Amino acid sequence: MKKIFSIFGDPVSHSRSPLMHNSVFKHLNYNACYTRTHLQNGDELKKTFFDLKLSGANVTVPHKEAAFKACDEVRGFAKKIGVVNTLVNENGKLIGYNTDADGFMYAISEFGSIKNILVLGAGGTAKALVSRFLEDGLSVTVLNRSEKRLPYFKELHCTSYTWDNFILSKYDLVVNTTSAGLKDENLPAPDAIIDKILNNSNYVADAIYGKMTPFLKLAREKNLIYKDGADMLLGQGVLANELFVNFELNKEDIKKEMQNSFRL
Ligand code: NDP
Repeated sequence: MKKIFSIFGDPVSHSRSPLMHNSVFKHLNYNACYTRTHLQNGDELKKTFFDLKLSGANVTVPHKEAAFKACDEVRGFAKKIGVVNTLVNENGKLIGYNTDADGFMYAISEFGSIKNILVLGAGGTAKALVSRFLEDGLSVTVLNRSEKRLPYFKELHCTSYTWDNFILSKYDLVVNTTSAGLKDENLPAPDAIIDKILNNSNYVADAIYGKMTPFLKLAREKNLIYKDGADMLLGQGVLANELFVNFELNKEDIKKEMQNSFRL
């Protein structure tokens, strides 16, 4: 029987997930299709999931916390951060996972050895990535525009700075998790700070995808190895798809078909 998957979000029309997953299902002959579901009320997630007879789903803004609450069981890293982006129907039970942070780890696995990371920004994405980095025993510093979101990271024993008190160090990787550069041409911190950081970093990653941010442009000018957020998007998608197909497809094949969908 054909399996049906979907993504829940508000808004959801911009999501690339249907293209990514349908490309895998179609080209690897897996009998399934993936749709979009515009959901405004996160409390209706579980009922809608079962009403639509879904085998699995992804969840995007703003329902990732609601998805965590809706699950009968949450597995792995999602349990730690209380945020679910992937749902699987396991014999009528709703099982939740988080593939965002692992997707990012997958994306940076092509980089060389990474021990010290500087995270720019302190929002939801930063929280997930920092918790994941700490799980791997990596050393993490957070730099944010303002102080208000930093206590969370201080509790995790990360070195945390605002632009005003930042002390430079050497970093293997610097990651932009701010939305600077998404809809504007801003750098994630003042020019002088970013310049110094990039002169002391080996690898650069941006969570933003679909455009070359000023931050990545600068990394390119300095001949650093960099990645935009497309690989993070790809990484979370590959890991979610493996859960959807219960590991019946080859991971490299999934990755290849999802990558192809980015050209559509
Ligand atoms: P949040 O709203 O939770 O956090 C935004 C962060 O960016 C805050 O720390 C904020 O600082 C900072 N910020 C915003 N504007 C600026 C600016 N002009 N200069 C410096 N800092 C700024 O956002 P999310 O964590 O949910 O998302 C962040 C980015 O990650 C988005 O661009 C999103 O598109 C992208 N993303 C990509 C994914 C992927 O798969 N590639 C997955 C998830 C997110 P302050 O605390 O001072 O307000």
